[in-house]
Amino acid sequence: MKRYKLLLNGTWQDSENHLLVVDPASEKPFAEVAVVDRPEVKKAIEDSDAAFRAWRSLTAKERGDYLREIAAQLDRRADEMAEIIVRENGKPLAQAKGEVAMSIDHLLWFAEEGRRAYGRVVPHQAQGKRHMVMKQPVGVVGAIAPWNFPLVLAVRKVAPALVAGCTVLLKPASATPLSACLLAECIDAAGLPAGVFQLVIGSAPEIGAEMLENPLCRKISFTGSTSVGRSLIEGAAQTCTGLSLELGGNAPVIVFEDADFEQALDGVMITKFRNNGQSCIASNRIYIQRSVFDKYQEALCSRIKELTVGPGLTDRVDVGALIDRKALDTALAFIEDATAGGAQVLTGGVRSGETGSFLTPTLLTEIPPGAKCSQEEIFAPVAALYVFDTEEEVIERANDTEYGLAAYVFTSDLNRAFRVSEALEAGTIGVNDPVPSTSNCPFGGYKQSGWGRELGSEGIDAYLETKHISIAGIK
Ligand code: NAP
Repeated sequence: MKRYKLLLNGTWQDSENHLLVVDPASEKPFAEVAVVDRPEVKKAIEDSDAAFRAWRSLTAKERGDYLREIAAQLDRRADEMAEIIVRENGKPLAQAKGEVAMSIDHLLWFAEEGRRAYGRVVPHQAQGKRHMVMKQPVGVVGAIAPWNFPLVLAVRKVAPALVAGCTVLLKPASATPLSACLLAECIDAAGLPAGVFQLVIGSAPEIGAEMLENPLCRKISFTGSTSVGRSLIEGAAQTCTGLSLELGGNAPVIVFEDADFEQALDGVMITKFRNNGQSCIASNRIYIQRSVFDKYQEALCSRIKELTVGPGLTDRVDVGALIDRKALDTALAFIEDATAGGAQVLTGGVRSGETGSFLTPTLLTEIPPGAKCSQEEIFAPVAALYVFDTEEEVIERANDTEYGLAAYVFTSDLNRAFRVSEALEAGTIGVNDPVPSTSNCPFGGYKQSGWGRELGSEGIDAYLETKHISIAGIK
């Protein structure tokens, strides 16, 4: 079994205990990774702080050149990286390749964006004064990533933090540490100075507690569940550690009767089934206008039945294994809860095969009020259909959630597209667009979906302090 080490202060470190990495398609362990304990996390934060002084004094162009080199290393190992993502996460290979390509694009975007971390000169109000506003790196950053997009969601933090002049400790999810190990190899091969980027894997509560309580760690950037996000907020209340939070979602999709029918079908299939339904921006509630509901439901059902389920490395697989057995059981419980209240299962609804955490892609309809699948994140290939009558009604129902990460609208009426987009309470709106995320636009949530934004020109702000320098006595 291959063993992976951790990059700590410029050296590759092994440990006595190891974390086993399980392939969700076979449910068998296939690799092991070194782990750190809390004193080692403390040491890593101290090393990170020591490395910060020299790293921050480089020019943004020099740091951007390092990012370009990391992107080149990742590109060189793109196939290997995609395969590792599939083995640890279960998604289809083509989608893992897309994740690698997007990660490279993020690195290249932030390599340039670092040079645009502008301050400003502000007109003075008192004679003899001058005012400058400048942006400076916050310092040591703890980056905590989830398992659903194990590479790209880590890169979304690491790239802007590094280019801003911060040093970074990356903590990937325990289920998917290997893509982070390969990313660390790419970063090491790009020649970053010791301590600028480090990889820590181990007990999440211990690593999180050290990041929160160690005053040298100035910022935590977290992507994951709203419940863990809340616990970080509680911890940060004691230390005032800065937090950026990308949390859960419950995305509505609204298909109006004037939508291009085929486009709306293709779109919903992508929003729901991409990444095995385990995407924070996956559609959770699919609202179809009454006049097209029956036709749409029938067409969607046929499309779902055509999906091929299987191990992600197998040719032409559309839906792979869920991350683990618990995720499969949770999905089955959502289905059971809905059907107990009267929902109909039009296709799927059961486990697929006897090995691996595969779920047959599922279509639920006639969902009763109060069903859990309407209120909580399903995070599985389960499409839940709802009928609506008017624009006003559907906007109210779409916004009736504690989350606000993404929402989708399918319509061919431009006026309606603007009206509805402006009324929806979500950080990203896809109008006839099932894949709205891109390196150059901000991404993040309203309400309990998080604090702050990643990507775009906003994506670097999270890693910068704003300083005002006032000079008096100028004659
Ligand atoms: P999770 O259980 O919250 O875990 C996310 C990360 O936090 C993992 O690295 C985990 O480590 C770590 N963690 C767990 N407990 C911690 C603690 N007490 N202190 C510090 N770190 C801790 O979430 P998940 O199940 O991996 O991810 C799924 C969730 O993420 C969904 O709700 C999804 O919507 C959300 N998500 C949001 C976005 C977004 O951009 N808004 C993107 C993707 C996913 P271990 O794995 O070691 O426990």
